[in-house]
Amino acid sequence: MNNFFQENIFAIILFLLLIILLLIALIGVIVVKLLLAPKEVAQPKAAAPAVSPTITPEVVIPNFKKLSEEKVAEKYYCENHPDIPSVGTCLICEDVFCEQCLIEHDGLYFCKEHFKIFANNKWKQITDVKTTPDTPEEGLYIYNFKRHLWNDRKVPSFVLTHYKINIEEDFIESFIQLNVVVDAAVELAEDLEKFKVRH
Ligand SMILES: [Zn+2]
Ligand SMILES: [Zn+2]
Repeated sequence: MNNFFQENIFAIILFLLLIILLLIALIGVIVVKLLLAPKEVAQPKAAAPAVSPTITPEVVIPNFKKLSEEKVAEKYYCENHPDIPSVGTCLICEDVFCEQCLIEHDGLYFCKEHFKIFANNKWKQITDVKTTPDTPEEGLYIYNFKRHLWNDRKVPSFVLTHYKINIEEDFIESFIQLNVVVDAAVELAEDLEKFKVRH
């Protein structure tokens, strides 16, 4: 054993030196890799925000909603308060009003003035005209008659729309229902028929 060691001493030393050099080279590579590592990590970090905008359309949608709300608000201000955006329409005069000027009753909205007319009268429905997506203009004369009554004769009335889903044909039917004060119902129903012929 001792003999073998003496005969091969140089080879063994050379072998050990080679291993040490390899180890130094290996450590060197590891150190260089570690030093370069932050740059390699920074790349995926930079790539991450590039991916995230595609996952955040939520940010875009509220912006769009905000814009459309502003557009509506700019367009319609309360009839009584020129600086307050309106929230709805009075069924009788069809003007737009803010929250504090509108009165809600059973899902129907009126301005304060015309809620009194609504509450102090009995009403009768004088039309139930069906319109479909193919015939949307079918009930138009009723709206025109309602406006004629209010604008030209100061006669109050209001239009309700009743929706019904036609399951067989898969479309929505709407029924245009004109309501007038009971005492005037017969006369106004006749006027409406004449109005329909002329328009
Ligand atoms: Zn009104
Ligand atoms: Zn108002």
